[in-house]
Amino acid sequence: MDSKNQIKVFKFGGASVKSPQAVDNVVNIIKEHASGPLIVVVSAMGKTTNALEKLAHAFFRGNIAEALRVLEAIQNFHLQIARQLFSNPNNPVFDIIERAFYHLYHYIQQPPGRNFNYEYDRIVSTGEMVSTQIISWYLSEKNIFNRWFDASQLVITDTNYRDAGVDWLKTENAVKSKILPFFNKNKQKSPHVVAVTQGFLGGTTQGFVTTLGREGSDYSASILAYTTKASEVVIWKDVPGLLNADPKILKNTVLLEKISYQEAIELAYYGATVIHPKTLKPLLKRNIPLKVKSFSNPQFKGSIINEEYLNDNSTSSYIFKPNQILLSIFPRDFSFIAEYNLSRIFSEFARTGVKINLMQNSALSFTVCFDEDQIKTPVLLKNLGKIYHVKYNSGVELVTIRHYEKADLEQVLGNREILMEQKNRTTLQWVVK
Ligand code: ASP
Ligand code: MG
Repeated sequence: MDSKNQIKVFKFGGASVKSPQAVDNVVNIIKEHASGPLIVVVSAMGKTTNALEKLAHAFFRGNIAEALRVLEAIQNFHLQIARQLFSNPNNPVFDIIERAFYHLYHYIQQPPGRNFNYEYDRIVSTGEMVSTQIISWYLSEKNIFNRWFDASQLVITDTNYRDAGVDWLKTENAVKSKILPFFNKNKQKSPHVVAVTQGFLGGTTQGFVTTLGREGSDYSASILAYTTKASEVVIWKDVPGLLNADPKILKNTVLLEKISYQEAIELAYYGATVIHPKTLKPLLKRNIPLKVKSFSNPQFKGSIINEEYLNDNSTSSYIFKPNQILLSIFPRDFSFIAEYNLSRIFSEFARTGVKINLMQNSALSFTVCFDEDQIKTPVLLKNLGKIYHVKYNSGVELVTIRHYEKADLEQVLGNREILMEQKNRTTLQWVVK
């Protein structure tokens, strides 16, 4: 097993930095719950990424008036937060914020290039770049020794913009040559030595910024923990920890206090939104525990995901994935659904980039459930429709129940209809309408 460094990684999502009070709370958490070398990974503030996404779409459609309107709102939002945090109007952070948005302002005056995903990353990355500058300067204001790092020079990726793949070797080298020396040089200086960086962002070897997919900041924290051999990752959230269901959907949820990586991966895979699904694998490889704790109640124990906890099947978990399509595919010549047809069908899914959440076959039909997507779904349906007879339901929900034997199935189903069911020893899945 790898020996660990004493480095910890804290990840703060958008909700934890959505207001001046929230930012202040983050700084208190760092003060009270960490000492020594700490990497702080921060997302864009509040709903900034959604707003920047809107801006990117408006820009790409050529609607500059709309793009500028959104830009102004985002800039004001950040300036307002900064004005409340920093009493000195000459604090350099104001210049940095204005420069970042000024860059964006200039950028959108030029016509967009052909690659939307590239433009998207260029624009949307502004959210994290600005939020981390605010955090870094505010830490300094509170006398916490820190330095701001540009994640596009730490997390090295391919050029698959909007869903970039990490180059682990290059990333490990970049992190080792930038963050570790910073910690080593400064560890005697101060009780806290903090490296602040952006979640969600990476960069190509050519120096172009990339993003790792929506909600990717958890994954960033895990990448940085893996490459620094950190001793633990803490994700600070607006929930008390990992719950066995979304409390907005089910009553009487239970905290999953200690669970295994494998169980957590299953939950994330089926759509539990507390942790980004890519987060766990790098941590599992180096056996780095992941804690999920509440930023509004930092004393509360929260959840811990680690290797030791293998028998965690006593609690049933419920995961709801809405906006699904249930599609049935029938060969027109009544040929069997066997290897030849399956390989044709799968290659169509792979080509359009649609990930299958659930599948089932009979002699003459193949049924799949997948996420509805405005762009990909019509292409997939059209291409499959050329070869097969297709039938589908949209707007259905995929319900996954882990450890279903003791589960309250009636509460989950309500008066909905089951369109498809699948069961194995640990997991029950329904597509319901
Ligand atoms: N800000 C990005 C998003 O909202 C990344 C993240 O929050 O994890 O998708
Ligand atoms: Mg976010």
